[in-house]
Amino acid sequence: MKKYCDYCANELLKNGRCPDKECVHNLLVDIYNDIEELQAKEAEEAGQDVADDVTVEKGA
Ligand SMILES: [Zn+2]
Repeated sequence: MKKYCDYCANELLKNGRCPDKECVHNLLVDIYNDIEELQAKEAEEAGQDVADDVTVEKGA
């Protein structure tokens, strides 16, 4: 399935970016990537905390 830019209707590149470098779409992609990275880090940290708790519970 090909995806098209919501803003200028260009066909999106394979990496999900708009071929028009100055298109708003690319700014949003960058912002979402940053948010996803942050969420992934937070989830990783939270996951580690949970894993620690589980280990403690198993130990007790
Ligand atoms: Zn675009």
